Order: sequence, then structure tokens, then C-alpha cells
Amino acid sequence: MTVESNKSLKQKTDNLYDEYSINTTEEKQRSESFMNAVKDLIELCGDDPNRHGFEETPFRVLKAHLEYTKGYHSDPKDHLRKFFDVDHDELVIVKDIEFNSLCEHHFAPFFGVAHVGYIPNGKITGLSKIGRMVDGYAQRFQVQERLTNQIADAMEDVLNPKGVIVFIEAKHMCMCGRGVKKRDSHTTTLATRGIFREDATQRQEFLSMIKY
Ligand SMILES: [Zn+2]
Repeated sequence: MTVESNKSLKQKTDNLYDEYSINTTEEKQRSESFMNAVKDLIELCGDDPNRHGFEETPFRVLKAHLEYTKGYHSDPKDHLRKFFDVDHDELVIVKDIEFNSLCEHHFAPFFGVAHVGYIPNGKITGLSKIGRMVDGYAQRFQVQERLTNQIADAMEDVLNPKGVIVFIEAKHMCMCGRGVKKRDSHTTTLATRGIFREDATQRQEFLSMIKY
């Protein structure tokens, strides 16, 4: 590696530290040791971490993981707190909210769509706010079941609706890419609160409206 590329990598690393408020010596040392661990991993896998092509890989792996998990830096419920008082008590559905997340067991991506339905009880929120709230929970180390429940709980806590239903369909790279090799399998999860928990007809209406 040349001195020149070293310098620019240092600059990029400093910029990353600024962006994610990695300020203390301890935090910076932790970042350094993580990047060294990535080199060790490359070697354990059987490649040469010092070969051409890997120069910035440890830095990029760190940067990518900070990006994937930036949901930790905010409270996703805050997005929903911009609500309106509206006299509407019929089912509202936001369909096909795309998300990307990271499985906490393998650090492998899982991604798909969330469908969120609720029956308001005087309060509605902007439709785009629901998408931002979903991102806030998806951009963490997750399991799909918890993600589904956190979305339902956020809707319930902030909007206090008559009912909430959340349906997620996702593809898990840890299932697709490893030994299991189930390339086309999807995982679906459902969380219900309030009226959707008690009333099968309401659940059916939601599921038919999202065409599942
Ligand atoms: Zn996994």
C-alpha cells in the first residue's frame, strides 16, 4: 500500500468517525481492533488480507455495518408522533414498505416488505412516517419476529388505535446462501394488537386487502 492511499484511507476513517460520533479513544481503538479482526477473518477463510483488492475492505465492512444499523441512533416512535386528530375509524393499510435488515444470528441481510394496518381511534399519522418508523427498527441487528412486534408496539403506543396488524414477508440470506440452500423460501410473520387479536374477520379483511 502506498503512503498516498494510506492517507486517504485515514481521512475516510476520520470522516466516518465524525459521522457516527465515534469520538473517544476507547471507541476508536474498538474500531481499529474490529478492522484488524476483519483481516483475521479473511485469513481464516483462506485468503491473503494484504493482497490487492482488500486494502480498504476492513474499513468498508465497518462502514457498511454502521450504515445497516443506524436505526440505533434514533427512537423510531418519534416519526409517528407527528399525528393528526381525524375522525376516521376504518382500516388504514400501508402496503409494501420495503426494508433491509441484518439478521442478528449471522450478520446476514434479510429484506422484504412490511404491510401495516390499523384502525384509528381519533389519531392518524402520515403514511410516509410509518415507513420511516419501519426503517428505524429494521436498521438494527434483528430477528424478523421482533421486528414485526416492535412495529406493532410502536403503532399501539403512539397512536393508541383500536387495533394494529403487521405482516412481514422477507427473504433471509442466511437461509439462501448457506448449507440450507432454500433459495426461494420466504419467512412470514404476523403481529396483532387490539381488535385484530380478538376478531378473525378483521384479520381476514386485512389479509385479503394485502392479497395474501
Ligand atoms: Zn440468520
